[in-house]
Amino acid sequence: MTDDLAHGTERTTVSDVGRELLAQGLTTGTGGNVSQLCADGETVAISPSGVPYGDVTAADVPLVALDGEQVAGDFDASSETPMHTALYRRRDDIGGVVHTHSPYASTFAALGDPIPASHYLIAFAGDRVPVAGYDRPGSEELAELAAETMGTEYDACLLQNHGTITVGETAEAAFEVALMVEYCARIHYQAISVGEPIILPDEEVDHLRSLFEGYGQR
Ligand SMILES: [Zn+2]
Repeated sequence: MTDDLAHGTERTTVSDVGRELLAQGLTTGTGGNVSQLCADGETVAISPSGVPYGDVTAADVPLVALDGEQVAGDFDASSETPMHTALYRRRDDIGGVVHTHSPYASTFAALGDPIPASHYLIAFAGDRVPVAGYDRPGSEELAELAAETMGTEYDACLLQNHGTITVGETAEAAFEVALMVEYCARIHYQAISVGEPIILPDEEVDHLRSLFEGYGQR
């Protein structure tokens, strides 16, 4: 019954993409979170804090303003709300944000190592996936670090000792980027385990990136 629910479409998206996050192995338990900017451009539908993804209905999805203040919902908004709202405030080219604890990407985050262009699909994220330094989960400081590291140039970054954050035109698009980041992390991990991966030249990755933008990735 999303018809009478305020911002029901966006809240449904958040609940659906949250389930996909778990189904695709991008997170465990209640870790990670998803948000979708609403059509009004000033309200954000975001995963509730601590509710198992399988149980979250559209009505359970909280709404927050761009300053992070919760404006609707019975459950508390995700503790990582500052990271989502910081990105929406800084970038007018995005409408969705996804945060994961996906295992291969989190491995490079644990090392503090960016993921280079050892697979062409890295272009969904940028010329590589950079790393934002460590700060405490849920803090404004972490939100600032992540937003600064991504700038307007990257659609993903690793969060040192934590996980990943990705953006897109919609929450579904940000989810696709999160899938690509995890895939590229896995391939890079496997490649360095058995040899020395060949890294694609910057100009090739730039070219691929412009092609992917044409597919509506941004
Ligand atoms: Zn997290």
